[in-house]
Amino acid sequence: MSDEALIVLENVNKWFGPLHVLDDVNMSVARGEVVVVIGPSGSGKSTLCRAINRLEPISSGTITFDGKPLPEEGKSLARLRSEVGMVFQSFNLFAHKTILQNVMLGPVKVRKEKPVEVRERAMALLDRVGIGNQAEKFPAQLSGGQQQRVAIARALAMQPKAMLFDEPTSALDPEMVGEVLDVMTSLAREGMTMVVVTHEMGFARHAANRVVFMADGQLVEEAPPTEFFANPKSDRAKDFLSKIL
Ligand code: ADP
Ligand code: MG
Repeated sequence: MSDEALIVLENVNKWFGPLHVLDDVNMSVARGEVVVVIGPSGSGKSTLCRAINRLEPISSGTITFDGKPLPEEGKSLARLRSEVGMVFQSFNLFAHKTILQNVMLGPVKVRKEKPVEVRERAMALLDRVGIGNQAEKFPAQLSGGQQQRVAIARALAMQPKAMLFDEPTSALDPEMVGEVLDVMTSLAREGMTMVVVTHEMGFARHAANRVVFMADGQLVEEAPPTEFFANPKSDRAKDFLSKIL
């Protein structure tokens, strides 16, 4: 991890009508840092993730990525989306394309890379997430845990500078959670900059450099995991932890 910030949010506000969903959020993520975002349902965690790759425009404040303000539209927005990989609860793989085609699609269609070169990289990524032998299958032939690992490989195929994960294991059967968290943990160890919304406190403890606790759109408290779990400062964090641990 370096001191240099890759993602910086300054005084970020987001309203959905009267609802203040992000309330003056200030946060910075260093290169190579792994930040786990936790908090009750409806606290704004998904909106925060979506704001970072501009799936959701913010109402006020600034977000910079890699030293530049987030672009509004056009080519630079497409570039941003490829530099910030996103993995959701639902895997959203293309059902009528093979696993390999799913992983190759972004680099070939969006970045106009040569299929032969992308294919090699895609296969290496599928091997890395433990799916190399399933490359010619279709998504429905894979388990949820395998599909989510494909979704991670697909995001990595764009060679992103950061990865955002929004509750990547919440839709999985319990026995498949570990295999996805293992892939995320190794990614973290390899130095990927990551923002991870999750209820998996084991992952937060072992893989995060920092835990950020959100409630009612506010970034209430942040600390290294050992410190946060041993000694949460705010009543809201204490209350939240008492319910989930
Ligand atoms: P979390 O991910 O922490 O559960 P979200 O960021 O999804 O929270 O949502 C924060 C709040 O914003 C919730 O009250 C939610 O209902 C509301 N919200 C999210 N998306 C929209 C939207 N597109 N339109 C209106 N309200 C929304
Ligand atoms: Mg959410």
